[in-house]
Amino acid sequence: NMSHEIRTPMNAIMGMSHLALACELERKPHNYVTKVYKAAESLLGIINDILDFSKIEAGKLELEILDFDIRSQLGDFAESMAIKAQEKGLELILDVNDIEFAMVKGDPSRLRQILSNLVGNSIKFTDSGEVLIKVSIKELQSKLHFICTISDTGIGIPENKVGYLFDSFTQVDASTTRKYGGTGLGLAIVKQLCELMSGDISVSSEEGKGSAFTFNIIFDKSAQAPNVMPFVDVTGKQILIVDDNSTNLAVLKGQLSLWGAKVTEAKDGFVALDKVDSQAVGFFDAAILDMQMPGMNGATLGERLKNHKNSQHTK
Ligand code: ADP
Repeated sequence: NMSHEIRTPMNAIMGMSHLALACELERKPHNYVTKVYKAAESLLGIINDILDFSKIEAGKLELEILDFDIRSQLGDFAESMAIKAQEKGLELILDVNDIEFAMVKGDPSRLRQILSNLVGNSIKFTDSGEVLIKVSIKELQSKLHFICTISDTGIGIPENKVGYLFDSFTQVDASTTRKYGGTGLGLAIVKQLCELMSGDISVSSEEGKGSAFTFNIIFDKSAQAPNVMPFVDVTGKQILIVDDNSTNLAVLKGQLSLWGAKVTEAKDGFVALDKVDSQAVGFFDAAILDMQMPGMNGATLGERLKNHKNSQHTK
């Protein structure tokens, strides 16, 4: 009941200010309404956290059990977070090499809630570097054991605070709250959701170096057919991968090798062109290029590969 009563006026505030922003407002009122909209957005975040938290505490949160494709869920999720990461110049990497079962039975929206909290935090508390989401699913006594680690290269967490992180309303320090916002409820909710799904969560962190949150949950097996292989057969194909981020290279190489491809790595466009130079005409069947690389971006490299006699027909 409460949730409905609170959300209805919130929807009106957000909906109407959104519409107002689409009108031709003068600079000053436009500025005011923008602030209303932003404040409403963050208030809604807090309200959602509090409502979820009280629902879990009251034992009223019920899981929805559906068959779903875990790879595409994770892919969609990563895509939705990519903009936020990119705005801060961070690499967001999803590693699903260790997923042996694509179809699972569980609650996809609660899984997404856990992930958005953890990955959202990682992006929030990291100023440069990367956020890696590494996932594995293994069979465990007729159930599926889902393990996920989200690691970042951010500010990290002091050792004496690690033990309290999953308590409600806990933040590392007051200045963090002023700088980054938040309620301190996110991790408490995440922990309860993991427990609700027969799992748990832990963290390891080094101050100034980064943090790694690992959670595991139990899914049921799905009777629906797994679809773990790509439609295209890449067995034995020579593939050149070019990325300045070494984690990304490792993830791509792992996935492509798993599918039977032969992989050559290059850390930038210049190395890539050297590799093409030193091979025979038509050696590489395909190349996968990162866009943003120092020195030469993906578009320029693509052009140069197309103009090179050895890689004219490389896809
Ligand atoms: P919120 O982010 O809303 O403040 P959380 O429960 O999600 O609440 O997080 C609690 C606190 O844990 C954060 O305020 C922050 O101090 C710390 N924290 C969480 N994730 C990270 C991270 N990836 N790196 C550094 N500190 C973190």
